[in-house]
Amino acid sequence: MDEQLVDIFDEVIARNPGETEFHQAVREVLESLGPVVAKHPEYAHGEVIRRLCEPERQIIFRVPWMDDDARVQVNRGFRVEFNSALGPYKGGLRFHPSVYLGIVKFLGFEQIFKNSLTGLPIGGGKGGSDFDPKGRTDAEVMRFCQSFMTELYRHLGEYTDVPAGDIGVGGREIGYLFGQYKRITNRYESGVLTGKGLGWGGSQVRTEATGYGTVFFVREMLAASGSSFEGKKVVVSGSGNVAIFAIDKVHELGGTVVACSDSNGYVVDPAGIDLELLKQIKNGQRGRMTDYVQQRGGQAKHFEEGSIWDVPCDIALPCATQNELNGADAQTLASNGCEIVAEGANMPSTPDAIRIFGEAGMRFAPGKAVNAGGVATSALEMQQNASRDTWSFEYTEQRLSEIMTSIHHRCLVTADTYGAPGNYVAGANIAGFTQVAEAMLSQGVI
Ligand code: NDP
Repeated sequence: MDEQLVDIFDEVIARNPGETEFHQAVREVLESLGPVVAKHPEYAHGEVIRRLCEPERQIIFRVPWMDDDARVQVNRGFRVEFNSALGPYKGGLRFHPSVYLGIVKFLGFEQIFKNSLTGLPIGGGKGGSDFDPKGRTDAEVMRFCQSFMTELYRHLGEYTDVPAGDIGVGGREIGYLFGQYKRITNRYESGVLTGKGLGWGGSQVRTEATGYGTVFFVREMLAASGSSFEGKKVVVSGSGNVAIFAIDKVHELGGTVVACSDSNGYVVDPAGIDLELLKQIKNGQRGRMTDYVQQRGGQAKHFEEGSIWDVPCDIALPCATQNELNGADAQTLASNGCEIVAEGANMPSTPDAIRIFGEAGMRFAPGKAVNAGGVATSALEMQQNASRDTWSFEYTEQRLSEIMTSIHHRCLVTADTYGAPGNYVAGANIAGFTQVAEAMLSQGVI
């Protein structure tokens, strides 16, 4: 790391004790910025990087709610409004028991650069709760969402802060959150949340966008070396929103996804994952990957031990959660001849894993570039809401595809310009950063 940046990083650690995921996300960006500070002394003078590492606003609140047995439950809610240089804060809400301030901050920090890369006018933020929707009834999820929004609404607005979904927050939760916002404010402010239902302000392709966008990005990586998905064996971790639609698009483009997972283990299905069955189990039955194997039959097998990254593949798409792919996994992927790792999830690869990808000559692309299609399509949803218009599926998917091609191009051109040809991490961090830094300098010390 450049010497000027070491001080800033030390300060981040001292100021945010114990928030290891946030430290990891900041380190990864700062390690890329050496050539940028050398070329732009004005960034140091304006303390742009130091300011960027400190969220503009952090909100933490109590979320009390009543379960079905009339017992009072208490959770903690978060919203970190990280940076609004390019537009209103934009980023999802995560409901998972592992959520604490450090996770929300790492996600919010990543979101600044990701949103900048889309080329659309959105700032960075993220939120969530340690609430676990798993095993809860619809009525419990609704009461939780209503209580969460009863506090959060005062911080939101289509020009202020626009949340969306993430782990544990899908169409059902966005519906309950939007209903409560509307009730409290007495405003039908469609653009205040994205990921809405298609009949009431949602956008075509938003549900599919992160998974599809991930695969569009890899399509560009393959095309850059004269190749395509045709005949490629792919492993996708997770079986949630991002994973399901990544699998969908890989199959459409001629590849075969032979494995996917949930937090209890992974399934190998050599004939290719049966997407309709997977969707039915995950969305219809809210079931597990063990149910998939039981209902699929044939050669599909479930494994509780080991790692999904033991399954040989040409392309690996981690689409579950942070730090799910470690150094040992990276070594296995390399030994099995995997050529490309592209992150559908946020920060799924540990720093060790990323180092090993480089040493093994594999091509690696980070989440902030690869999975930016989700937030990009959220911004397209905001555009449609603002103009009270709805676009067709084909048109919206075309826009998403063009945005992903443009992000891929920007990463490679920027990496070249700053002396790191082919390095998607450097390209994504530098391209995302410079646009935000320029805007911050123009807007003064605020
Ligand atoms: P979902 O809740 O729909 O699915 C998450 C999947 O990951 C589930 O299969 C879940 O399994 C698995 N998972 C979660 N935590 C763990 C864990 N600790 N270990 C193993 N598996 C785990 O979330 P999404 O698909 O929306 O999000 C997945 C990733 O993509 C996250 O990193 C998210 O931040 C990122 N992302 C999502 C976007 C979106 O538009 N949804 C946009 C950009 C990034 P189980 O059911 O067992 O918990």
